[in-house]
Amino acid sequence: MKYPIQNHRARGDNPVKGIVIHSMAEYISTPDGPSYAPDFLEGVGLGVHAMITPNGLLLECAGADRICPHAGLSMFKGLKFLNRNFLGVEVLVEGVHSYASFLKAIKSPQAFTLEQYDALSVLVRMWREMFDIPTGWVVGHSEVSGDSIRGKGKGKRDPGSGFDWSRLNLDREEVAQ
Ligand SMILES: [Zn+2]
Repeated sequence: MKYPIQNHRARGDNPVKGIVIHSMAEYISTPDGPSYAPDFLEGVGLGVHAMITPNGLLLECAGADRICPHAGLSMFKGLKFLNRNFLGVEVLVEGVHSYASFLKAIKSPQAFTLEQYDALSVLVRMWREMFDIPTGWVVGHSEVSGDSIRGKGKGKRDPGSGFDWSRLNLDREEVAQ
């Protein structure tokens, strides 16, 4: 279903070359109460192309013809600031989380559901076919925005060590977190 996040811009002549897999809490704990993931991103000026709920529902947040601010400071194979060339999808971790409880949750395989892996596999396959994306260009946020790029302790940890890449059937080598 469509769940638009308004923060995006025209793709221009920046071709889609890859996909960044993210994870975030389904509801983010804030002083004003729990904030639903897409509403939270909207509120902080971020955005992403799609989200997948714990029960495997695909939320379409922006078209692939738009550039969304999802990867931030990031690097991959000589490219810097991957938003221009990478689509982003957030796998939502069930429940209300602070950043600390989220980081703990994504260390467990239980953070992600089979329904999510199924929906994510379909989406990734579709995007790969649309844009001729090689297997190795489907990456985790932590791989392209880790401590080595953002500074010690500031690196991204998502989608997390509990995320099972083998379920995406990418024929992709195991990656370091
Ligand atoms: Zn991320």
